[in-house]
Amino acid sequence: MLYCSTRGEEQPRPATRAVLQGLAQDGGLFVPAAPLPRVALEPLLPLDYLQRAAAIIRPFLEEFSEAEMESMVRKAYGGGAFRHPSIAPLHRLDDRLYLLELWHGPTCAFKDMALQFLPHLLNAAAAKTGERATAVILTATSGDTGKAALEGFRDVPGTRVIVFYPEEGVSAIQRQQMVTQEGGNVHVAAVRGNFDDAQAGVKAIFADGALADKLACRGFKFTSANSINWGRLLPQVIYYFSAYLDLLASGTIKAGEKINFVVPTGNFGNILAGYYAARMGLPVGKLICAANQNNVLAEFFQTGLYNRNRPFYRTISPSMDILVSSNLERLLFELSGRDPAQVKEWMRLLKEKGAYQVHPAVFRAMAAIFWSDWAGDDETIAVIGRTYREYGYLLDPHTAVGKAVYDKYRAATGDDSRTVILSTASPFKFADSVARAVLPPAQCAGRSPFELLPLLAEATGAPIPAPLQKLEQLPVRHRTLARKEEMPKVVLDFLGVN
Ligand SMILES: *Cc1c(COP(=O)(O)O)cnc(C)c1O
Repeated sequence: MLYCSTRGEEQPRPATRAVLQGLAQDGGLFVPAAPLPRVALEPLLPLDYLQRAAAIIRPFLEEFSEAEMESMVRKAYGGGAFRHPSIAPLHRLDDRLYLLELWHGPTCAFKDMALQFLPHLLNAAAAKTGERATAVILTATSGDTGKAALEGFRDVPGTRVIVFYPEEGVSAIQRQQMVTQEGGNVHVAAVRGNFDDAQAGVKAIFADGALADKLACRGFKFTSANSINWGRLLPQVIYYFSAYLDLLASGTIKAGEKINFVVPTGNFGNILAGYYAARMGLPVGKLICAANQNNVLAEFFQTGLYNRNRPFYRTISPSMDILVSSNLERLLFELSGRDPAQVKEWMRLLKEKGAYQVHPAVFRAMAAIFWSDWAGDDETIAVIGRTYREYGYLLDPHTAVGKAVYDKYRAATGDDSRTVILSTASPFKFADSVARAVLPPAQCAGRSPFELLPLLAEATGAPIPAPLQKLEQLPVRHRTLARKEEMPKVVLDFLGVN
């Protein structure tokens, strides 16, 4: 399988090159150049997560042998990093509704599902292509990606990881997770300002040719670990299949029965993997795109207008606070009939005017599989409380947005097909909001999120995930605080280049 750019100006190349490069030079994203492989479900039924993973993604990574594929998968999902034997277990809420728990990895959010795999893929790709340079993974994070990249790449030979997080933009638990990070190849720095400052600083470093040359002389090469990289998207296809197969294996659904997936969405990576799964033959009814108050995607799927000219809200589901969803470009490429000229025109309008409108035919194609709505913070808190009282189950705020939007979907369409909500974070990772939803106000008042963890566990009987248990006591290892202009120096200092 070869990969081409959504903007059409790059020679198709094998997966190894596409994942090492990350972003295409024409500014587009790499996508499979050939039709997607069809997956036969029957043979996958008796297999475990690791075996299913290798079988599903192998056709996308043809340069690797079966043994190499199995080795990568084993290192990612079989090395004890995931606390649940099923890796991504389903939790049944009722006859119709299931939660796919994607947060049993080391950082308690779904980013681990891909970021535990990506380092091994990059390493194997570097070995195959003869790439000698040390990969420098540079990441700006609003919280979850940074920690997952640090955990995924820690002590992976041939890699260095540098994470910049906004001094004022991450939760107390997220900050503590990052500044206590262990590993000989990792570096974490706070940036004065908000996420946009950190992100702009990282983009400036990526665009700085002189800096890249200087580092290249010393054997370093920048790469990206966010979901613009195909290597991060691909492992996310696996759990859509595994959820379906688990329902099939337990006799809950019949072969060929269509199910819906609800996906709490930000950068459109997770739900796009669901779209690819459907194109690979998974029987999917609707993909329900759940947004928070930053509802640019909900408007897009309802009207065909993508308009980022709107206020940016900081919500209690911060990993979905985003106005430009990068991965939508890959969907647009497919929906336009793989027309790079059309994609380029929409992206030009997005850049220059902040908005574009798709044609009726494209709108019909997206409405055939996607449905979307959004939920605000108050609704989200109410849903966490209600779900806890009704089912005794704790939702994190991102997953609760998914549940709120699912309830709207049911009410609007009457569709009672079996549905899986992708649960993207452990409720304990966002203890403040969750405690506020389920504990009496007097119990929460004046308490830090760390103090709320045991209270939540006690009141609900749900255990605190091990990585969060001793978090507050861990020694702080990273104290760098930089202004945006100092970020290149932070990079050079860490790499020992001057
Ligand atoms: C990253 C993230 C999301 C959004 O996923 P996208 O792939 O960016 O759409 C949702 N919930 C949580 C907890 C996340 O960390």
